[in-house]
Amino acid sequence: MLSSIPMAEEADTVSSLLNALAINHSFLMSLSEGKEGKPLVVILVGAPGSGKTTFCNDVIRAARRTWTRICQDTIANGKAGTKAQCLQSAANALQEGKNVLIDRCNLELEQRSEFVKLGGARADVHAVVLDLPARVCISRSVQRTGHEGNLQGGKAAAVVNRMLQKKVLPNLNEGFSRITFCQNDDDVKTAVNTYSFLGLFDSLPPGIIGQKSADAKVQQGIMKFFKKVDTDGNCSQNSSAKREYVSQNSAAKNEYNENKPRPMGIEKGNEVGKDEQKNDMLRKPCVSDFQWNDAPTLAFPSISTSDFQFNMDKASDVIVEAVADFFSKFDKVKLILVDLSPKSKMLSLVKVKASKKNVDTTRFSTYAGDITRLYTGGGLHCNVIANASNCDTRWTTGDALEIATKEQADTISPGSSIIVPVPRTSPLNQREGVTYVIHVLGPNMNPQRPNCLKDDYVKGCKVLYEAYSSLFNNFASIALSQNYQKEYSGDSKYEPTKSVGKFFESVVECQPSSSEQKSKREVSYAKSNGDSGGLPRCFGMLEKEEQKSERSDHSAKSSWGSWAHALHQIAMHPEKHNRDVIEISDDFVVLNDLYPKAKKHILVTSRLPGLDCLADIGREHLQMLQKMHAAGLKWAEQFSSHDPSLVFRLGYHSVPSMRQLHLHVISQDFDSTHLRKKKHWNSFNTPFFRDSIDVQEEIKMNGLATIKEEKLLSSELRCHHCKSAHPNLPRLKYHIATCKAPFPAHLQNGQLVFALSGSSDAASYSCNGSEAWKCAKLENHLTQLTLICLLGVLTIN
Ligand code: AMP
Repeated sequence: MLSSIPMAEEADTVSSLLNALAINHSFLMSLSEGKEGKPLVVILVGAPGSGKTTFCNDVIRAARRTWTRICQDTIANGKAGTKAQCLQSAANALQEGKNVLIDRCNLELEQRSEFVKLGGARADVHAVVLDLPARVCISRSVQRTGHEGNLQGGKAAAVVNRMLQKKVLPNLNEGFSRITFCQNDDDVKTAVNTYSFLGLFDSLPPGIIGQKSADAKVQQGIMKFFKKVDTDGNCSQNSSAKREYVSQNSAAKNEYNENKPRPMGIEKGNEVGKDEQKNDMLRKPCVSDFQWNDAPTLAFPSISTSDFQFNMDKASDVIVEAVADFFSKFDKVKLILVDLSPKSKMLSLVKVKASKKNVDTTRFSTYAGDITRLYTGGGLHCNVIANASNCDTRWTTGDALEIATKEQADTISPGSSIIVPVPRTSPLNQREGVTYVIHVLGPNMNPQRPNCLKDDYVKGCKVLYEAYSSLFNNFASIALSQNYQKEYSGDSKYEPTKSVGKFFESVVECQPSSSEQKSKREVSYAKSNGDSGGLPRCFGMLEKEEQKSERSDHSAKSSWGSWAHALHQIAMHPEKHNRDVIEISDDFVVLNDLYPKAKKHILVTSRLPGLDCLADIGREHLQMLQKMHAAGLKWAEQFSSHDPSLVFRLGYHSVPSMRQLHLHVISQDFDSTHLRKKKHWNSFNTPFFRDSIDVQEEIKMNGLATIKEEKLLSSELRCHHCKSAHPNLPRLKYHIATCKAPFPAHLQNGQLVFALSGSSDAASYSCNGSEAWKCAKLENHLTQLTLICLLGVLTIN
């Protein structure tokens, strides 16, 4: 008998074989009745986003024991339930001889103590601590979609942070016999292997595994940013700002405690004392006829003139020019240049030059004050603020924004900017009404900093102008966004104003209204930005292409939205897209899907101009279809030979969202965070997905491909293996992660590409009609092997 396996690697060959063959557990259980070791209760401990559910699914997927995952988010028939229900289900599972994974955060001692009590005579209790860095957990939970407990998006960051503050790492005294600490993905992988390799008769030695620091601390930076507005309304982290405006906090306090935003007028009248009035004078916008009428307003600092040492005189010229140009394209938006110091040279220079250039002073102003306290400190309603990325960013970002920013960091280069939404829970949003921060990177003239332009002011001014243009255009895109009003709803103390809506309407009024026309609007907007085509950069930043292509309705296109051209552009100029393209031939390019809906998802895209979708295909294209299929097959085989668990399907969407005919080569795990919507699933798992071999056959026979109806995209969600129906995508995803049913018969006719065996040099093959017997034979073969190995184990024991 295998007595104890300290690590996965020590599992014997027979065990691994059994594991690889995915044996039938209940069969095993019945054969080995009375011989298995004590069931286990494994209590996961980790913040949201630490990977608890993935851990459970990974263990269950490869497990040799029978495990039940207990998750409070789904315990009540797929809905959130109570801790008592979790305890009851866990007890029931143990009763049935199953092992239990408790998928809750369990960060606090009290949260896990009752689960520990499940142990004793009937079970051993282990803890697996997913002690991954807070920023990883936050980033993952903010990014994820379709989370069972709906803890995702902006709100997740604050929750994760709050929970981490209460984290108490488990210790053996609590009643655990074994505690495994995982600090990184490798540790997690090892722990998954340990538990999934664990055979019925195996046990793990007690003790603490992998603890690096007994007292891991919550990362301080995150605290700083998420600190809730306290009762004093005093949330600023900027000590110099406090020094400069001694009375600011009291004014802020009054306003906050009154719990109502100050009216839009900039004059504060007699509400404040003399000191406050004096400071208000400093804080007032400096151009007197600036009008507050609730138009979307961007507050921005001078870019590159402090740490990057850009000449102020030249920089002020650039600002005024960029502002004037922006106003010539967009009205009903306002800009405020902000500097912390009332004696700011930049503010004076810009003020004078703006006036000389007749910049509309009702829409442009300067302001001395703290850009993070424009509302509480100065009564200014600025919906969007800019951050010069070269500056000390601590004031705006805190860690959460920093994480969001870093995620997009590779998109920011000198002269460009990125939009980062401000979480609703953050003081900046709640207290100041700021919903977006735009990070902008200007040119650098400081030899101590990267990419110094060494006083090349020709280039420097050009890059600085681009930086302001990018900033302003991104701001315009926020204002133009349909989501604008929505972003202001929620529990923010800052109320949306009617004129914001009016602004949007007034823009839309002058624009055609249908989605097709909207596309045109975006294209023309792109042109006005000097963008040669494709997605306007600013729109891309605000509203990702993915969302845009999702918005597209899959209908037959007489014209395509601006986001729908990316594949066409790549196919026509693959050399310009080196990073995305994995193969180029005269007939097609192969590229990774930018939003893969499975572990492996590539697109074989035709290079023939004018060939956008299935409807465009005729007999003359047959050869090209065959070549595309062969390329897809080759890649599928290659992927399968590296990961034999991958099974592929090759096919076309009846009506694509992106132009330029493309063949999807997609692994059938559908394990992807990009698979977020019903229509994503249905586009690959209903007849809307046209298998490549069927399309070729039809073209050969009829010269036409069948195009299935789009209403299939709203069909009910069904597992692609067992065909069971599921109420929503998270439930379906949960099901498919564990469904062991074979693929349905209608896909066994050449539509699937398998790996023949698990070895890395295995030949994969597409199972078609004449080869169907091989599939059956393979299955048979595996069953026989299972039995042989099983008998081996029983003999050994
Ligand atoms: P379809 O609905 O057949 O047009 O699918 C279009 C596919 O293109 C989707 O799977 C998208 O995720 C993917 N996609 C969208 N934009 C890009 C891009 N820029 N590069 C690569 N793939 C993309």
